[in-house]
Amino acid sequence: MIIGNWKMHKTSEEAAAYMRAFLPQVKGFKVGLAVPFTALHAVQNDAVLIGAQNMSDEMSGAFTGEISCAMIKDLGAKFVLLGHSERRDVFQESNSFILRKVKRAQEEGILPILCVGEKEGQELERVLQEQLKGISGNLLIAYEPVWAIGTGKTAKPEQIEKAHRFCKGLLGKKTEILYGGSVNSENIAEIASIKEVDGMLVGGASLNPDTFAKIVHQSGRKK
Ligand code: PEP
Repeated sequence: MIIGNWKMHKTSEEAAAYMRAFLPQVKGFKVGLAVPFTALHAVQNDAVLIGAQNMSDEMSGAFTGEISCAMIKDLGAKFVLLGHSERRDVFQESNSFILRKVKRAQEEGILPILCVGEKEGQELERVLQEQLKGISGNLLIAYEPVWAIGTGKTAKPEQIEKAHRFCKGLLGKKTEILYGGSVNSENIAEIASIKEVDGMLVGGASLNPDTFAKIVHQSGRKK
């Protein structure tokens, strides 16, 4: 699976235009898009898996400004990104808070994609162990070294392999792990060929439908 993360980009009109250009180019590929809440209704389709980029840990209630799992499901989301490094850093989301969201998503029957990864200078194993504490059940992991997100730097194949193997060691061999961090059309082929990499999470390079469609093709991830 290769998943694009639009972050806070695109109005619903721009999202619909993107889909008109993108869908005909990615027929037969295993691809998903994590879009803003406000674009979920505009990207509904049968070929590309649609997801949200966050959700509340609560079911409903007095939580002004929050969006629940039932609400994103209602708009067609089949997965939800949780614990993205921007949520952890900019919005101070803690491991325990993110764990509650993962459990909520699993209870409500939507696939959580939990983002994990170390900052520059941090010890990889220690960080992954803390971020994956209490995590189990049906989910995907996205390993994204924080220093590689949006920077143009990517982790070396040995490091990606080591991190993915470590996550699989904690969660079970069958757990699928995506790699994220400045994936683009220049490096996708090498990243996709790494043994432990089950898919990719692509941020900036997913914003243009033609560029992302090219990356999807280069990934070779067919249905
Ligand atoms: C991301 O948003 O998860 C990401 C990996 O971004 P980028 O590809 O731009 O580094």
